[in-house]
Amino acid sequence: MPLFLAGCLRQPASPARHFRPLFKKKPICNKLAFGSLFILCLYYYLLSFYLSVINQTEYNHKVKNIDERHGVFLVKLRIREEPAAGIDVGLPVTQKQAPASLTTYMKRQIIPAWQGQRNKIRQNTLSIQKRHKMNKRNTLLGGILAFMVLMTVACGSHHQESTVADSTQTDSITVVNERVAVMHDPTSNATIIGLQDKATEQRVDLFKGSYNDSLLAALIPGEGARSAINVFLVKFPDGPTVLFDAGIGGEEGFMSLHQMKPEEVDAVCLTHLHPDHIGGLLAGEEALFPNATLYLSETEKTSVSQWDQYSPLLATWNKIQKAYAGRIETFADNAALFDGKVQSIPAPGHTPGHTLFRIGQCLIAGDIVHSQDLQLEHPEFCARYDQDPTTAVATRKEILAYVQSNHLQLCGAHCYEMFVSPK
Ligand SMILES: [Zn+2]
Repeated sequence: MPLFLAGCLRQPASPARHFRPLFKKKPICNKLAFGSLFILCLYYYLLSFYLSVINQTEYNHKVKNIDERHGVFLVKLRIREEPAAGIDVGLPVTQKQAPASLTTYMKRQIIPAWQGQRNKIRQNTLSIQKRHKMNKRNTLLGGILAFMVLMTVACGSHHQESTVADSTQTDSITVVNERVAVMHDPTSNATIIGLQDKATEQRVDLFKGSYNDSLLAALIPGEGARSAINVFLVKFPDGPTVLFDAGIGGEEGFMSLHQMKPEEVDAVCLTHLHPDHIGGLLAGEEALFPNATLYLSETEKTSVSQWDQYSPLLATWNKIQKAYAGRIETFADNAALFDGKVQSIPAPGHTPGHTLFRIGQCLIAGDIVHSQDLQLEHPEFCARYDQDPTTAVATRKEILAYVQSNHLQLCGAHCYEMFVSPK
């Protein structure tokens, strides 16, 4: 098993997710929606029960009293229903119509007239029942639905067992513009801000001879593959604020994109020591981030000894070491950084100590790909920047499989999209 995967497996099980509500950012709306649904279900359930009782009610009637007003007899019938209370129904009878014997008249005229009304009421009741389809089966279904909604409301906010596979991360990404995208990571609760330091192109020549040149020409017909230099600013709710890589630097760089003050950055994690990842650490000869500690892998720091002693890169690194003296920390492979909020994952090949960082469902992927259009589909292509091409290809394949199987967002330093979900 590859070393980095062994390290990942040592992680505790993925932290539990919250139930994904209807109104993700407004829990109160979510509660109201479920509450309303529950009340609606309960209403239909009770209505159905009531109508089924009414339908079986036997109506009784008796003469309550008889009034004579303005030459009209008003015969009032007291109708009793079981189990509901009685109601009064008045039927006007003119003097002319009124017979000598009211009892006979009641029998022949009033009671049949009432029965007609009663039948109407029954028909109305039946039509209401039909309209709402509230027969016994629907009563049962309504009850079950009400119960399920009640359980959802009761349990939803405490649901802790959803798996990583249940989540869809794309709905939590906001693309602000071509150079800024923000993601809220539901696992770590961190805000991950992708900032494009610079838009670039990778020359097709860089990939020639690495795998299949005719396929390369077909996939990237021009002279360059769309690319970028990105950094990622990660803010954890209870700190720290960590910058992942520092870009190439310069006035038009990532610092101009986001309203962040350099002193707010608590740490800078470096994927490796190439100029397009460390250049932005300096403002002239000084540390741009006055309060930040630099983190890099022990292997990467050690590999500096193999560099050409006259290379401009070594000169830059020496300046950085001077500016950040006493504030450079190294870590071993698969280290848990910042109380386990960040996991380091070794990804050798591009450089010996090339390191990726996992934050919840995001993988800060450094230089695992230089062209997303080319290498996500065909990881066999290798840019000449990769120091050890054979290892780089093997690592790329493993990392991409790891990203896919864990449904991670790939945050590449050279992808033109800040958050990529390889398919
Ligand atoms: Zn790079």
